[in-house]
Amino acid sequence: MRKLLPCLLGLSLSAACGQAPEPYWVDFTVRPSADGAEIVAEVSGGPKTAWVGFGVGPGASPQLVDQISGVAAFSATGEALEIEPTGRAGYRVEAKGEPWRLTYRLRLRPHAEDHSFYRASTRGDDYLVLAGSDAWPRFYADPTPLTRPPEARPAGPISGATARFQFSASDPAWTVVSTAWEETPNTFAMRQHPVGSVFALGPFDTVQLPDAAGLRIALHRDWDIMPSQIESLLEELMMSHREMLTAPDSVNALALLSPMPRTLSVRGGLRTAGMVRGQTLVVYAAKAPAIPTNHPDIAEAMAVFLGHELFHLWVPTGVQVTRELSWLSEGWAMHMGRRAAVATGWLDQAAGTRRLGLSYRRYLDIGGYRAGSLPAASTGPEDQRNLLYLRGELVFRLLEREWDRANPGEPFERALWSALEGAYDGVEPLDSATVRTILTDLVDATTVRRYVEGQAPLTPDALGLAGR
Ligand SMILES: [Zn+2]
Repeated sequence: MRKLLPCLLGLSLSAACGQAPEPYWVDFTVRPSADGAEIVAEVSGGPKTAWVGFGVGPGASPQLVDQISGVAAFSATGEALEIEPTGRAGYRVEAKGEPWRLTYRLRLRPHAEDHSFYRASTRGDDYLVLAGSDAWPRFYADPTPLTRPPEARPAGPISGATARFQFSASDPAWTVVSTAWEETPNTFAMRQHPVGSVFALGPFDTVQLPDAAGLRIALHRDWDIMPSQIESLLEELMMSHREMLTAPDSVNALALLSPMPRTLSVRGGLRTAGMVRGQTLVVYAAKAPAIPTNHPDIAEAMAVFLGHELFHLWVPTGVQVTRELSWLSEGWAMHMGRRAAVATGWLDQAAGTRRLGLSYRRYLDIGGYRAGSLPAASTGPEDQRNLLYLRGELVFRLLEREWDRANPGEPFERALWSALEGAYDGVEPLDSATVRTILTDLVDATTVRRYVEGQAPLTPDALGLAGR
């Protein structure tokens, strides 16, 4: 990092610094169509030969780039520019140093079973979520990023972008919701590439929550879970987290509530899925049709689930952590989700402990007795995630109990949050060594070695789950 400094200083004195090319500026116009979207990108900046690559957001299937078609490049006067495929979903464009235009189509399958976050069709009441993924090409100054797979492509050098959405008259209820700056209706301006933002297109109604300032809800018109209570539920959970953790600076958060794609069946009573991208929470939920919309079990489960998702505004949004700390961001989110549900009265304490007891049994059922270091498990196989999150939650309960013993009346969550916030410089994600030191200071080295580093098994006794 330090070596860059003279170069950056030099930039302010002279126009160029070595071979650093002028960054790109891109204006996107998106027109949803019957089976996806038509997209035009007006490009300026960049070198004479431009390198363009499509990519996918975290967790999305790399196959999504195959849904891009009809890629073509034109000069400002409309002449076709030389364009040649390079690498997977990549192109070399002879832009000749003038502003130019890239056009392409995003094709969506009407029955996307998977990729629920990046779906779907644009038919009827359906809608489209562009979550920093498939719809946006990246622009590069050299071909190296095109040798990387779509899921590992960086956003590329960019000085700014706008994303403009134009709907046909046949979708009067459609709107765009995003945390990006809305310059004029359905036009968003960004200092970085739009891959960092979520745009949801569809029949959404947006509601501001007056008490939880900075949090907006966008409710899809087909949302049918706790319809009369969902706003107060979100507001109360958000307030509970804020009270416990102190407010993150300048919140501009959005909770996007959508019904589950119809093609995903509901097993049991309720099915939920959540994703956090920057300050946008994308939440899908569906309940079995036989269950009443305000059934107490639905309310309990939704409170725990939404409490978890909202917590991600703190970790990993406010304080970022490395992948080996996913046990911390997810385990703590599970712990805080349950805690907030109890604190706001949507889940009673006894029911909370009962659910935790069930979680513990499930933890044993899926192989939890095999201990090991949590940081190591965090970088392990994807199919072990559930176990990791459960174990993470149990470890947080344990750490809290240890803390409470020595610091009665002082919330463990607040102490941990202040310590993490104090250690985070706003740039480098916190790593395991830093968190290990923080936890050792808060509790003690033996507890951390035993339960975080997995030298001792978690027992119902240690967790305060008596009678099991
Ligand atoms: Zn989570």
